[in-house]
Amino acid sequence: MNQWEVVIGIETHAQLATVSKIFSGASTAFGAAPNTQACAVDLALPGVLPVLNKKAVECAIRFGLAIGANVAEKSVFARKNYFYPDLPKGYQISQMDLPVVVGGAITLQVGQGEKAYEKVVHLTRAHLEEDAGKSLHEDFQGKSGIDLNRAGTPLLEIVTEPDMRSSEEAVAYARVLHALVRWIGICDGNMQEGSFRCDANVSVRPRGQAELGTRREIKNLNSFRFLKEAIDYEIQWQINEIEEGRKIQQATVLFDPDNGVTRVMRTKEDAHDYRYFPDPDLLPLVISADWIARVKSELPELPRQMRDRFISEFGLSSYDATALTASPEIADYFASTVAIAGKANAKPCANWVMVDLAARLNKEGKELAESPVAAAQLAGLLQRIADNTISNNIAKKVFEALWNGEGATADEIIEKQGLKQITDSSAIESLVDDVLAANAANVAEFKAGKEKAFNALVGQVMKAAKGKANPQQVNDLLREKLTD
Ligand code: ADP
Ligand code: MG
Repeated sequence: MNQWEVVIGIETHAQLATVSKIFSGASTAFGAAPNTQACAVDLALPGVLPVLNKKAVECAIRFGLAIGANVAEKSVFARKNYFYPDLPKGYQISQMDLPVVVGGAITLQVGQGEKAYEKVVHLTRAHLEEDAGKSLHEDFQGKSGIDLNRAGTPLLEIVTEPDMRSSEEAVAYARVLHALVRWIGICDGNMQEGSFRCDANVSVRPRGQAELGTRREIKNLNSFRFLKEAIDYEIQWQINEIEEGRKIQQATVLFDPDNGVTRVMRTKEDAHDYRYFPDPDLLPLVISADWIARVKSELPELPRQMRDRFISEFGLSSYDATALTASPEIADYFASTVAIAGKANAKPCANWVMVDLAARLNKEGKELAESPVAAAQLAGLLQRIADNTISNNIAKKVFEALWNGEGATADEIIEKQGLKQITDSSAIESLVDDVLAANAANVAEFKAGKEKAFNALVGQVMKAAKGKANPQQVNDLLREKLTD
């Protein structure tokens, strides 16, 4: 295995979050009854003409700027000719020689802990095109149905250089790209509905060889898990083939998730098979510097910038800052919480969001957006920990109560359930004295050098205080009295 180097390039089709299609006014909403959202243009009736959707272009510009690419001043729509029942025109409008976005890069954090490293994936291009319709093979007894609702939905096809070297890097790239397109609002990222689909081009070569091996392209992977499984299978399959003396044929393959294998769909076609030519129905797409400047001024702070700011402004670790900017939802939740709880609470806030809240959501199979504990409520809780109204342990109780809707704020729950920490030192002292008097055996053990006995005594005091005594004060007082 180690003598082989894996090479992966990814093509992603992101459906753009426009209200209408790329060349017609029909709706792009998902899930309507078949063929109710396909107008004359999408059906390719004679005499119709495409009109470019400005919003789709704006999405492409946003994306280009977000990855530091060049947004082409002039790009050209071309016809990609092929026959398929879900493509009534007989060609797909795409971009070939002159795409709207050229170059750019995406930086990833790969792996965890000591093995974590940073990886730059360069992008080749991103171009605008239209989606095809769908062939439906179920429910038609030996026939296929055609649903053209999806025909003409705007897509941005995002193509990387063959820069990735493992399935882990491929998945990391896909995740960061997925987060980015949602972050900048150009794609809803719904993978089940096909809004974000990845094709993985995979090849292997002997380590040290400059020339790339022959690739096979795995089509339409619509989950991160399938992306990983398909690539891992494909790598092993190609290595076996070569080691057994066979040559890899360039091909397009499909992943069968039920059996965990890839199967050839077609041997690879070349660009000339598609007879690309500029679409005479569409003018070249010209994007002015002013337009680019305006889109740039409207871009939000990007995940990577926000991550760097979390590190410098809040002193978070790079791991935490990366995790907290992994989706627009988590970033927004964290930022909202810190905005209320204060910068000084940023680190505990990161922990609560990534550990306690994440575990609780996970347990219920809930998304962050469905969290019963809102950012403001968590912030209120953090403030009571910070000002010593409650200990960390009691805070977990309060959190649970907030989760269950037992009160609107941490303060209300602390008040109602009498959870306020005892910090009055004379009150704690009397508890300590009682415990020392009642536990002579532990006291003797401690004096004989057994540190464990000390913990037992702390436990007794906390128990007597129903968990509400300030743990630091209990510790200090006990030690003071025992070492007198
Ligand atoms: P096509 O458009 O015909 O699929 P491209 O040449 O545009 O072909 O490449 C598509 C993707 O395949 C790109 O992401 C590219 O980086 C990747 N790629 C090209 N050659 C290889 C290779 N030998 N191994 C792995 N990936 C490759
Ligand atoms: Mg391709």
